[in-house]
Amino acid sequence: MRDISSLPRKQLAFLPTPVHELPRLTKVLKGPRILMKRDDQTGLALGGNKVRKLEFLVGDALAKNCDTLITAGALQSNHCRQTAAAAAACGLSCHLVLGGQAPAIAQGNILLDRLFNATITWSGELRKGELIPALKTQLQSQGRTPYDIPYGGSNAIGALGYAHAFRELMQQMKQLSIDLDSIVFASSSGGTHAGLLVGAAECGYQGTIRGVKIDKESIGSLPFRTTVTQIAASAATMMNIPFHPTAADVILNEQFCNAGYGTITSVEKDAIRMVAEYEGIVLDPVYTGRAMAGLIALIRDGCYSTSQTVLFLHTGGAPALFAYAQELVG
Ligand SMILES: *Cc1c(COP(=O)(O)O)cnc(C)c1O
Repeated sequence: MRDISSLPRKQLAFLPTPVHELPRLTKVLKGPRILMKRDDQTGLALGGNKVRKLEFLVGDALAKNCDTLITAGALQSNHCRQTAAAAAACGLSCHLVLGGQAPAIAQGNILLDRLFNATITWSGELRKGELIPALKTQLQSQGRTPYDIPYGGSNAIGALGYAHAFRELMQQMKQLSIDLDSIVFASSSGGTHAGLLVGAAECGYQGTIRGVKIDKESIGSLPFRTTVTQIAASAATMMNIPFHPTAADVILNEQFCNAGYGTITSVEKDAIRMVAEYEGIVLDPVYTGRAMAGLIALIRDGCYSTSQTVLFLHTGGAPALFAYAQELVG
């Protein structure tokens, strides 16, 4: 096995992120013991899961002497905000391709993209990086050396961040003498999910890794499970880990994704309010709100016993809340 530390990496996050109990949520739901790992607290630019991926992606960009980062996402993309901040911290230029049109007021993540001095191209319906190749060619013709990061930072290099996170989590669980039965998190572009699967294979973890699917549309033409297994397989190869995942290894809760990406329904709203009211913790409207709604539904459906321990991986996203004030509190 190759140690991840031999691969290019730029330190951007404050690690390890904390893990703590959610005692009041555990009590009100009358289900399993619930823990939370705070990857919303990775530090850079208000935190989030993309910072872990960016440590390896930006490390690779710097090793290749690139001077510009390009990536893409939805209008309120957390990934794009964290990429813009990483570029600023490393003295690189940043070009973002954002779905939709320039809003009248730069709110939430867009405000932050602007502060980090990213150049924004608005791409209408296309929010998954379709315009990245053309932008890359254009920047190259202007004499730049761009490094393109896929939608969500989800490729094998980005997934290394979550293989590493899994190791970090297992060390924390060992110190606390806790055996986790399940890890629940928001799964959208697949890199977090893929990295966790590789880390779990490496550590011999016996519990489940359950992604709550956020986006009903897949990326490109592949089914989502195939995307996750492909990213996981190539990350495992980079790490020299003998791991050959199949679609059956990708456990998904697909209960709430049909409402569409970025649409808030009563379940997300209730989950956000519940975690705020019972724990003083801020979830986000697009990802962690829906993922927590998934966890709450699983608990209410009796999928976990009271003797089990479930960890919710908080992947961040709170800056987007400020763009959803109308939907959340009217
Ligand atoms: C991107 C993102 C996710 C999903 O991670 P993927 O690796 O894209 O599956 C979850 N939560 C938040 C807040 C995100 O920004």
